[in-house]
Amino acid sequence: MSEKFDLLVIGGGSGGLAHAQRAAEYGVNAAVAEYGSLGGTCVNVGCVPKKVMWYASHYAHELRHATDYGYDVSVKGHDWAALKTRRDAYVARLNNIYSNNLDKRGVTYIAGFARFIDANTVMVGDDQYEAESIVIATGGQPMVPDIPGAELGITSDGFFELEEQPRRVLIAGSGYIAVELAGIFSGLGSETKVIVRKDGVLREFDKMLSNELMNTMRKSGIGLDTGVVPASVRETDDGLMLKAEDGREFGPVDTLVWAIGRSPNTATLDVHKAGVNMDERGFVPTDNLQATNVDNIYALGDVTGRAALTPVAIAAGRRLADRLYGGMDGRHLDYQLIPTVIFSHPTIGTVGMTEDEALAEFGDDVKVYTSGFTPMFYALGEDKHRSVMKLITAGDDERVIGCHVFGAGADEMLQGFAVAMRMGATKKDFDDTVAIHPTNAEEVVTMR
Ligand code: FAD
Ligand code: NDP
Repeated sequence: MSEKFDLLVIGGGSGGLAHAQRAAEYGVNAAVAEYGSLGGTCVNVGCVPKKVMWYASHYAHELRHATDYGYDVSVKGHDWAALKTRRDAYVARLNNIYSNNLDKRGVTYIAGFARFIDANTVMVGDDQYEAESIVIATGGQPMVPDIPGAELGITSDGFFELEEQPRRVLIAGSGYIAVELAGIFSGLGSETKVIVRKDGVLREFDKMLSNELMNTMRKSGIGLDTGVVPASVRETDDGLMLKAEDGREFGPVDTLVWAIGRSPNTATLDVHKAGVNMDERGFVPTDNLQATNVDNIYALGDVTGRAALTPVAIAAGRRLADRLYGGMDGRHLDYQLIPTVIFSHPTIGTVGMTEDEALAEFGDDVKVYTSGFTPMFYALGEDKHRSVMKLITAGDDERVIGCHVFGAGADEMLQGFAVAMRMGATKKDFDDTVAIHPTNAEEVVTMR
């Protein structure tokens, strides 16, 4: 079979669906090829099921504080399997909604794995599809180290398949996924240890955030060992053992999770047949208009190797459609000042430059404001958790160029501050904004 479209999107994840649907709204005859479940990483093995698990673990934290507020609560246990059943059902409902949304907009859904034949042609199974424009939105997949026994571990994909809660968990990695899964496992009662190969977690973020998170992880019982470069993994009668390059051994554990980053889904896409360039790691570079080096081929989302976040993929996809089909010349995603949240316990919200980045760029023009406090929620009990915040400003007008929040509510707090920063807010604008009391967020506008 052979079929023709105006637009063919490869990958039915956050970015691909957003682009195809927006294009269809402009009257474009669009198709999406997807070999897995619609919704991609975020819906199936990412943000959505992760946030469900985060809520579960957050609940455990709140329950521990219930007695502070006069409740006589006894927790008899937690049913991981029941939670998974409900979570899977929710994800399945979302898959259906995504499929219906494509139908509603008249976007053709091609189920299967797509490979390029040339710059206008793609094969899915035995069928051939031609399109004037092709968008590569194939996302990425978790990496596993190339060491003996690595296959004994799981990745974040495997985390979402766990039918039972492991009693003892070892997580190798230091980024978003390592700290988020550590918080979930530990919050729900698993004995959890994180091993990082360098000197700490979240090294790309402001040092205040990584230091504070490491302190809190350790305080809440999560083991954290630094300078551990995994060398091999073996199975014993009592569980998995990981050996580091320096000879240290970790384990035995029931589950080992690799959280060491993600690689792009381009290895078998045959992009070379279309003449599309990849970088040495397999990412597809684009300019700021999402254009690859081939005229009619675009790329967006995680596969481009920039800011691997769902709203980034969606925004890039929609703006590309606005530009190509909606008459909005030049419209594109600005990759500056992208806010992001790490769903650790507690959460971290951050937008803009770290202090080190600001000092490197603006030197003596930088001013830094910080605040550290114990949120009122903990006032009535003994188990207290700190919040810390930092505002970074540059120039005589003290434009706010970095805002970093660690602590309860950071996840919900940052969106509004990100708007203000995009609009060029200065420290004076923050100071002139009346605080909302009593909240944790008020500290952001009362820093001196
Ligand atoms: P994807 O969503 O990965 O979609 C790509 C799709 O392409 C996939 O469905 C894949 O099956 C399909 N595909 C690949 N190759 C082919 C092919 N050749 N033919 C057909 N189909 C193909 N981001 C956030 O903003 N907030 C979060 O809280 C968050 N949590 C996360 C938690 C985890 C555990 C993970 C792994 C990621 C998380 N992310 C989060 C990141 C987010 O999921 C990604 O940035 C986002 O899904 C990227 O969207 P995308 O469209 O680029 O790719
Ligand atoms: P990250 O890129 O965030 O972190 C992985 C880290 O693992 C690296 O930075 C590196 O840190 C370390 N590492 C790399 N290779 C090795 C190795 N061989 N052995 C040991 N450690 C290694 O990747 P994640 O997998 O955590 O997440 C992927 C992306 O998905 C994130 O970057 C983010 O964009 C997105 N995501 C977003 C979330 C959110 O928005 N809340 C949640 C989850 C994911 P170092 O150099 O310090 O060793």
